[in-house]
Amino acid sequence: MSFENIEKFIDEHIAELIEIRRGLHKLAEASGEELKTAARVEEWLKETEPDELYTQVGGTGLIAVYKAANTDGNPQKILLRAELDALPVDEPETMSHASVNPETAHKCGHDGHMTLLLGVARYLRDFRFENCTVMLLFQPAEETGAGAIATLETGIMKKLAPDAAIALHNLPGYPKHQVIARKDIFASASAGLRIRLKGAASHAAHPENGQSPVPAFTAILQALQSQASDRYPEHTHALITITGGNIGGKQPVFGITPSIAEIRATLRTAGNETLRQMIYDARKVVESCCEAWNLEHEITIHEEFDAVTNDAELVDLLKDAATKLQLAVYDAPHPFSWSEDIGRFSEVVPVLLFGLGSGKSHPQLHHKRYDFPDELLVSGIRLFLSLLYRFEEKEG
Ligand SMILES: [Zn+2]
Ligand SMILES: [Zn+2]
Repeated sequence: MSFENIEKFIDEHIAELIEIRRGLHKLAEASGEELKTAARVEEWLKETEPDELYTQVGGTGLIAVYKAANTDGNPQKILLRAELDALPVDEPETMSHASVNPETAHKCGHDGHMTLLLGVARYLRDFRFENCTVMLLFQPAEETGAGAIATLETGIMKKLAPDAAIALHNLPGYPKHQVIARKDIFASASAGLRIRLKGAASHAAHPENGQSPVPAFTAILQALQSQASDRYPEHTHALITITGGNIGGKQPVFGITPSIAEIRATLRTAGNETLRQMIYDARKVVESCCEAWNLEHEITIHEEFDAVTNDAELVDLLKDAATKLQLAVYDAPHPFSWSEDIGRFSEVVPVLLFGLGSGKSHPQLHHKRYDFPDELLVSGIRLFLSLLYRFEEKEG
């Protein structure tokens, strides 16, 4: 294990990596529109002279491949993944590296996750592994769940055939640099439900002549919110969150009853099967209410995420790598209720997703005051490299 060169490498590069992270923060772009971010990442990756560089993967994505130096062996192929996208959130302009794009900001720390991989890329420029080929994936559109699906659809994951796909997510609410691990399910499955109701308008003086969606709207809202966890006993985290809705058109009218209404809700739970059951149950609620009040309806599903199920052997390697660095490891007792689209990659490769604590009182993810803590660049790069050395040793 060449930890000495890792420490020296980080000391020499950390100031520049912090600049890179803040530069990416300024560039923040929405999911699926990460053109400038991808162009900047491509420039940096080219400087690190990868053996292969794929661009426009699943949209704006990139994959850089750094082959094992020993060409005779059968190297482990490990893919590390970061996300390119930011969120539709405004941030205080007082921040020195505030986003230049209105209502778009890196409030999930994806700027930091990208920089961790760019740090690993710089290391690989100077030091290739003997028996471990490293692939660095910069994936678009994680926040909407579209990016992992689009990446899989290109067929590149099957072509490159990595032995593991690994990502970390920084986690506010946990001590800084603490590693948060969990075998089995790490993050929840979720899906957005858009429910559109259609009746008929009438004169407001004679609502009995129309079919207003208001009673059904109210009944559906109440029924969804009371779909309690104990309906789904195998998972305690079944949760339905109303995320939006409206009755009638956009114009403020007072003489006409509404003919349309819409409810938007996110369903989430630890298991893919339970999520399907929750969607089925929600459909049944909508159907019976619409039948009772003689309404037409349409239900569409958006931003679907599979649960992230961690490979047990990869979790053991992570714990080993963290312990070697004297980083505290916390075994999460329950799956997290948020979702991450790396779960999709389980279709083709064992997956490992883990947390890196951002500080107990750090602003939460997606909050306007959140910013990726630069100190995590040091622990994150050390951890990724330490993990890669586990694979190097595993083969050798
Ligand atoms: Zn996020
Ligand atoms: Zn995120």
